[in-house]
Amino acid sequence: MREKGALRHAVAAHLRAVRVLHKVSPRFFSLRTFSSLFSAVSPYVTVFFSARILRELATLRRVDVLWRWVLAGVLCVGVVTALGAVLQRRYETLLSDLWGRKEILFIRKMFSLDFSELDKQENHDLRAQIRQNENWASWGLMKVAYVYGDLVGGVIGLLSGIALTVSLFTSPVPETAGWLTALNNPLFALLLAFLMVSVSILAGKLIAAATKCWSGAAEEATLGNRLFGHFGFIGLYRERAADIRMYNQQNLVSAYWDTNSSFGADGPIGRMARGKMGVYAGLGVCVTTLITGSVYVFTCLKAWGGAFDVGSITQYVGAASAMITNIFSLIGLMGTLETNTGFLDQTFAFLDIPNAMYQGSLTTEKRSDRRYDIEFRDVSFKYPGSDTWALRHVDLKFKVGRRLAIVGENGSGKTTFIKLLCRLYDPQEGQILLNGIDIRKYRYDDYMKLFSVVFQDFRLIAQPLGDNVAGSMEYDRERVRQALTDAGFGDRLDSMPQGLDTMLYKNLSDDGVEISGGEAQKIAIARALYKDAPFIILDEPTAALDPIAEAEIYGKFDEITGDKTAIYISHRLSSCKFCDEIAVFHQGRIVQQGSHEALLADESGKYHELWTAQAQYYTKEKE
Ligand code: ADP
Repeated sequence: MREKGALRHAVAAHLRAVRVLHKVSPRFFSLRTFSSLFSAVSPYVTVFFSARILRELATLRRVDVLWRWVLAGVLCVGVVTALGAVLQRRYETLLSDLWGRKEILFIRKMFSLDFSELDKQENHDLRAQIRQNENWASWGLMKVAYVYGDLVGGVIGLLSGIALTVSLFTSPVPETAGWLTALNNPLFALLLAFLMVSVSILAGKLIAAATKCWSGAAEEATLGNRLFGHFGFIGLYRERAADIRMYNQQNLVSAYWDTNSSFGADGPIGRMARGKMGVYAGLGVCVTTLITGSVYVFTCLKAWGGAFDVGSITQYVGAASAMITNIFSLIGLMGTLETNTGFLDQTFAFLDIPNAMYQGSLTTEKRSDRRYDIEFRDVSFKYPGSDTWALRHVDLKFKVGRRLAIVGENGSGKTTFIKLLCRLYDPQEGQILLNGIDIRKYRYDDYMKLFSVVFQDFRLIAQPLGDNVAGSMEYDRERVRQALTDAGFGDRLDSMPQGLDTMLYKNLSDDGVEISGGEAQKIAIARALYKDAPFIILDEPTAALDPIAEAEIYGKFDEITGDKTAIYISHRLSSCKFCDEIAVFHQGRIVQQGSHEALLADESGKYHELWTAQAQYYTKEKE
């Protein structure tokens, strides 16, 4: 019963894999079916013509007929071989195309995951495991692409073989052949058929047992892949190069090159190939000679008795051998599919990670007056997998068009507050309201349009400057230029020979420019300005800027943000002075709220403590 369930599960998993791959590459399976059919049938073309030529040679020996068979044979085999080669090439092209498309499938899944799912280590481990399975021996989805052709080819080959051998059993030995007429007894045919099937099954089982050894080595291979994937390529990364030279880090990693024995000839997988796995595979091939031998004996005896001519011996023996190979490979494939089911389970576990965040249906009405009020009402939040509250009972209202500064020590919850506001996570307790309605009720993508955020760990990509700012290849060049100028990047832009078309970084283009952390931050600010959303949120926006650039940005902050509501996180309290309101975070709570003057006046308050800690530094220097 359990085996039946397992079989059903294996079949369902593989059928789903075919559907998934077919969706990403609709041409692959039809082409593969055709090419496999072709390569399965083509050996029989040679067998068929050789048999005809031999028969003519052994019987009437008519020269013109012989010529005709030879010519027809050469022509047919030539056409079949040429077509086979073309199809094979096409298959290889589509196969490598499929590798890429399959990868994009995973990337899209990664993009579409709830942000909170990305925090879960188990999801990253699962993805890493899937990749390692693939790198190891294409286990998982791609294995299906590989074995599909063998499966189709095997079935077609088997059927063609049967078609070509039927007459081996039905052609009777003439009565004049004495004791050889016993071969006409259907028992012989049954015996041979039984031998063929049972030995093929035995051979298949042996091969399957050999294949199964792979899954026994999965853990070892995974670890080997992981270590080599990390340490084997460490010299490729430019950002690591300085540290490697400075601290001789190669000494720390070279042990992993030398002892990466997982895949080495003397490693556990190598040993397995020489031992159990090799013996099973060898025995599997070996037992099939039993059938080939019996077919030879049976066919030759029937020919000896006069059931058919010498030419037919070639046909029967050739077809029977090809058929045995097919049965044998089909049963071996069953072992592969059985092993692959576990790998597919991991793949689907990843692709099926649900999006648990509630997706609302309300649209955020486009308001020309930008009247969007936000309220945090008793909000508490823990990161997935964490036991401590990152935010606790946070209440905060902010009015449209105002400047709100958020200050606090490291780890006090400032960034978390922003992430909840942007709905990267949902709070476990309390509500966040937009114009009085829970933000979960809005359509997610609509809601996201309200915010321009510059996160601390923002990332630009190796694309032209203008594309980076606009987030698109088509954009309003004047507005992008203005945004860059507002963000203090104007002079640098003027010095760039290709202006907005200048490629950032050298990853993709030798003409790319490397930019400093401060320049990157200005571009990130420009990107937020260009989006022109009603809320602009800057998380430590000037951390990488030099004092002059920083002063420049603050000097025109009001001008830059215009009528937008600005939320602004900073460690430098002096830069918060211009904000209308300041919220002080401490250990996940808002402990103070008010204007700079009011907060500073409370000498026992956190703000006063933070302010004096920073002011002290400057005052001392002055002294
Ligand atoms: P701040 O921005 O004020 O420096 P954060 O909001 O980043 O502080 O962090 C608040 C708390 O949440 C800290 O204790 C931090 O360690 C924790 N935290 C932040 N990000 C994560 C995360 N992805 N998973 C678990 N804990 C986190």
